[in-house]
Amino acid sequence: MIARICCLLLCSFNLQAQDYFLKIKGQPVQGALLIAQTNPNNTVSIDGQNIKMTSEGYFIFGFGRFDENSKLVSINHQGQTYQTSIPVQIRDFPTEVVDGLPASKVNPPERDWERIKKEQAQVKNARTVWSEQTAFLQDFIWPASGRVSGVYGSRRILNGEPKRPHYGMDIANTTGTEVVAPADGVITMAVSDHFYTGGTIIIDHGYGLNSTYLHLSQVNVEEGQNIKQGDKIGEIGATGRATGPHLDWRLNIGTDIRLDPQLIIPKDPTF
Ligand SMILES: [Zn+2]
Repeated sequence: MIARICCLLLCSFNLQAQDYFLKIKGQPVQGALLIAQTNPNNTVSIDGQNIKMTSEGYFIFGFGRFDENSKLVSINHQGQTYQTSIPVQIRDFPTEVVDGLPASKVNPPERDWERIKKEQAQVKNARTVWSEQTAFLQDFIWPASGRVSGVYGSRRILNGEPKRPHYGMDIANTTGTEVVAPADGVITMAVSDHFYTGGTIIIDHGYGLNSTYLHLSQVNVEEGQNIKQGDKIGEIGATGRATGPHLDWRLNIGTDIRLDPQLIIPKDPTF
């Protein structure tokens, strides 16, 4: 077994034993999307859970914001099981203090609870969509140009109250700035007025990878629509719980694993 680690923009591991192989692209840190490939005739499980792969043997997994344990990748090749443990690098997340939010958006009054619950269920539904698209293999581009005004994983203090961490990458720019699809996909949710997130779009990129676009002033796509990388999907805004116009962009695997979108795009916007 050979383990090779190289850290440029991305890391990759190559594990080889006779004719079974495992390649992993991505740096194994909290919030990382890892794209792996093995012989398509093998079967794969991660921490005991079977993983579906493409006809070329590609599959994805990731480390969440709070993951501190390594992931055990088991490859079954012709009746033999090979296991490799991928350790996760712990990150130091900043603290973000946001003041001046309307009190009703930090702690919503009881009359909004039902609406919020409904919207959360709608989001969960959209993120449960699983398809065999392979758009997750593309090189993602920035969904909008602008200044990075918030990062993944930061601890948040809203109007002085500690809240859940921030899971998005915030890109600040003026209302009306174009938001494009960072990769191909299918729109699984497109709404104009969610309580917390305002104009909101969710895109399925295949094999459980989905991305979310929040606070949009314009939503230019519909549920079920196929989109290509670079297609306009909406415009930056300050709808929902936002203090100023920005795009809050999120990346998830299914409903449970929240990833850092900034780790899969170039350092600077490409347009
Ligand atoms: Zn945000």
